[in-house]
Amino acid sequence: MSQKRVLITGAAGFLGSHLCDRFISEGYFVIGMDNFITGDPKNIAHLSSNSNFLFIQHDVTNFINIEGGLDYILHFASPASPIDYLKIPIQTLKVGSLGTHNLLGLAKAKNARLLIASTSEVYGDPLVHPQTEDYYGNVNTIGPRGVYDEAKRFQESITMAYHRFHGLETRIVRIFNTYGPRMRLNDGRVIPAFMGQALRGEDLTVFGDGSQTRSFCYVTDQVDGIYRLLLSDYPNPVNIGNPHEISIKDFAEEIIKLTGTTQKVIYKDLPVDDPMQRQPDITLAKKLLQWEPKVGREEGMRKTFDYFKNLTEEELHKSEHKDFSSYNK
Ligand code: NAD
Ligand code: UDP
Repeated sequence: MSQKRVLITGAAGFLGSHLCDRFISEGYFVIGMDNFITGDPKNIAHLSSNSNFLFIQHDVTNFINIEGGLDYILHFASPASPIDYLKIPIQTLKVGSLGTHNLLGLAKAKNARLLIASTSEVYGDPLVHPQTEDYYGNVNTIGPRGVYDEAKRFQESITMAYHRFHGLETRIVRIFNTYGPRMRLNDGRVIPAFMGQALRGEDLTVFGDGSQTRSFCYVTDQVDGIYRLLLSDYPNPVNIGNPHEISIKDFAEEIIKLTGTTQKVIYKDLPVDDPMQRQPDITLAKKLLQWEPKVGREEGMRKTFDYFKNLTEEELHKSEHKDFSSYNK
C-alpha cells in the first residue's frame, strides 16, 4: 500500500506541530504549511531532516499549490489566543474564511478528506452547560472576539456546504481549551500566562473575579481525539476536550502550588465578552470515537511546567516576538 500523504496547516504552531509528530509516527508523509504569524520554526525544527516531512512556508489565505496527491488535509492555521486575534483581527477573519475556502478547493481538486479546527468559541458565552454539539451558541458578532468566533462559525458553514453540495469528505472538530509543551509563553492564554508569571517572579493576573470556568485538555489527548475523528465517517461537528472544569481563581491557586512561587494573585478587568463558563459534553466523542481524555490536570500541568522551566532566560523575558502590523490588510 502506498504511503498516505497529509497536509497540515498551522504546522509551526502548538497543535499543528504535535499533529505533525503524530502523523509521522503513524507512518504518513506530512506536508507542513505555515506563515509563522503566531507559530515558531523551533516547534518543527526536530523534523527538518525527517524524510517523511516537507515544510512549505505559505500564507493559506493565498492560493495554495501542492505537487502530487493528498489523502488528508488538516486546517489548523489560525491565531488562537484572544490576545493574538485582537492584534490581528483581519488576518484572523481571513484565515478562517478565505483560508478555509482555499483548502476546500484544494481538497476537492485532490479528492482529499478535509478536517477543520473549529472551537468551543462557536458557543460564545454559552447559555447551555455543559455544551453539547446541538447548541447553536451565544456569540456577539461585533464584539472584539467576534473576529475569531464568526470566522470559525463561517468555517463550519462553508465546510458543510462543500460536504453537501460537492460531496466532499469533511470533518469538524470543536476544540476546547487545550494546553501543553510548545505553547508560546507570551501568547496571552491563561496557562502560559500564569506559568510565565510564576517563572519571572511576577504576581498572577486573574481577570474579573476569577469565577469564570474553563476545562483544560492535555495536548496528547486532543491529538488522539482529532486523529480518531479524521478516520471516522462522521461529518458533523464533534467536541473534543476534557470535561474537568475549574474556576480561573482556583486554577491560579493550583498553579501557585505547582510552581512553588511566593507571588500572589492580583485581579484585572475581565476582557469584553469573556465566556463565563465552559465545559465540553463529550458523550458523542466517547460513543463515536471510543475516545476520552486520559491525562489528568495535575500530570498535564507538571509536564507543561517542565517545558516552560527549560526555556532560555531570553525566551522567558521577551514580552512580544512579533510586529503584527503588516498583517492587518
Ligand atoms: P497557534 O497560534 O500555536 O498555531 C496556529 C498556527 O497557524 C501558527 O503556527 C501560525 O503561524 C499559523 N497561521 C496562522 N495564520 C496563518 C496563515 N494565514 N497561513 C499559514 N499559517 C498561519 O495556535 P494553536 O493553539 O496551535 O491552534 C491551532 C488551531 O486550533 C487554530 O485553528 C485554533 O483556532 C484551533 N483551536 C485551538 C485551541 C487550543 O486550545 N489550543 C482551542 C480551540 C481551537
Ligand atoms: N485569564 C486570566 N488571566 C490571564 C489570562 C487569562 O484570568 O492572565 C482568563 C481569561 O479571562 C479567561 C480564561 O482565563 O476567562 C481563559 O483564557 P484564555 O485566554 O486561556 O482562553 P479563552 O478560553 O478565553 O479563549
